[in-house]
Amino acid sequence: MTQETEASPNRPRKDRSPEPPARVRFAPSPTGYLHLGGLRTALFDWLWARHTGGQFILRVEDTDRRRYVPGSLEDAMQGLKWLGLEWDEGPDIGGPYGPYVQSQRRAIYQEYAEKLIQLGYAYRCYCTPERLEQVREEQRRRGEKPGYDRHCRTLSPEERARLEAEGLPSVVRFAVPLEGSTTFHDLLRGPITVQNRELQDMVLLKSDGLPTYHLAVVVDDHLMKITHVLRGQEWLATAPLHQLIYQAFGWEPPVFVHLPVILDPSGKGKMSKRKKVVDGKEYPTLVRDFIQAGYLPEAMFNYLATLGWSYAAEQEIFTREEAIQRFDLRDINPSPAAMNYEKLEWMNGVYIRELSPQELKERLIPYLSRDLGIDEETLRQDPRLDKLVPLIQERIKRLSEAGQWIDWAFVEAEAITYTDPKLLLGRKLDAAQSLAVLQAGLAILERIEPFEHQAIQDAFRAKAEEMGIKAGSFFGPFRGAITGKKVSPPLFESMEALGREEVVKRVRRAIAFLEEQLQAASEQA
Ligand code: GLU
Repeated sequence: MTQETEASPNRPRKDRSPEPPARVRFAPSPTGYLHLGGLRTALFDWLWARHTGGQFILRVEDTDRRRYVPGSLEDAMQGLKWLGLEWDEGPDIGGPYGPYVQSQRRAIYQEYAEKLIQLGYAYRCYCTPERLEQVREEQRRRGEKPGYDRHCRTLSPEERARLEAEGLPSVVRFAVPLEGSTTFHDLLRGPITVQNRELQDMVLLKSDGLPTYHLAVVVDDHLMKITHVLRGQEWLATAPLHQLIYQAFGWEPPVFVHLPVILDPSGKGKMSKRKKVVDGKEYPTLVRDFIQAGYLPEAMFNYLATLGWSYAAEQEIFTREEAIQRFDLRDINPSPAAMNYEKLEWMNGVYIRELSPQELKERLIPYLSRDLGIDEETLRQDPRLDKLVPLIQERIKRLSEAGQWIDWAFVEAEAITYTDPKLLLGRKLDAAQSLAVLQAGLAILERIEPFEHQAIQDAFRAKAEEMGIKAGSFFGPFRGAITGKKVSPPLFESMEALGREEVVKRVRRAIAFLEEQLQAASEQA
């Protein structure tokens, strides 16, 4: 392929006239769960449709029945809805150019395949799989590129009639011109020319009567009046064939935009299909796993929009409306971008902090319900959660991290174990001193009014000073006693959230635990 670059990314916007309303489609095949790369294609589709005031169409390309994965269409729809990419026409809502599921359009493709045969641009091929394998085997032996030898292209009408009469199964193949070259245009890459002799007589209609991708995509994009085709770079190689099919029908092709692949964080390889493990950490690549990991759709929307496009040199955070307003296909960077999980996490943190505590609570509930095993409604009604959410808002980067920050508040006191011997010891304090601290603090906690964080903190500080112990060392045993952890949300706010009764109970248990330990130690000595 030869390639010239015609569009220069980020060229000044002022020389652009407004675009007419575009019709763009996202056309997933239900052959696996939605991948981040697919979601980005859909996002760019959607942005272009919204920017131009056009339509975003969802079309299901399910003509390869062998590769069908149950649940993958639902998964794709859920992923699009999660990101807020609502479609204007699609399998579930219909539209003026339906049906939007290719397996329901069988008769249409058959009609158009027949038309190509009549026009002399396609032919029936009766070759058996065994013969095709034999041909390929011989080609390999001769060191040639394997491909169909066009055996059936030159059958006489009599031979055809005889094979038909025998009732042999057949496929329909495209008759690629044997000479000359084909040029198609890619918006980002400019004109690309291939020599026709390098192209194969690809199958358009299979023996089961279903089309291959090549026929279905051209027919549907034409009939559905698609103006811009955004799809993965892996389809570049077959784009000349599609161009030839458009020409054969005498149709105007849409604008093609082949999107660069997304690279893995190292920038070396393509981002893999499944979860990736780097240094023991698991990185999601499927949209459903990003959802499970607790990324906010608004952060993902923002991040994905920056993966191959940029809003402005110095501005990484922007709203959906800003993106719609400024998005232009011509500004997509044709070279691949690497997935940057750190940046996504950072953005997610930014969006988490922008939520109101009430909204954050709502978003957290499904995750907490999953991770703490408490039903959603119980959590929603629990006043402790209202107090705890603002305490972790600054601390979490993903919604799924919340559980480990606040799980201690939703368990029975008995579930807090003090197995780590240092957990109940204040910094530079031994067990006896830490016990004295807990006892002094308990006396305060039992009585103080109101049971409110500032009051508790003031009383604790005064007590620490009186005992000649640094405040930090004084507080430490309480954090351990109440949360069973070394790291937790701010201590006094956590106490207030948990409530006096439970706090007192936990401190008493910690005291009993330390007493037992000291007792055991003295018996041993
Ligand atoms: N069904 C194709 C895929 O899932 C889409 C290609 C296209 O958008 O034309 O890869």
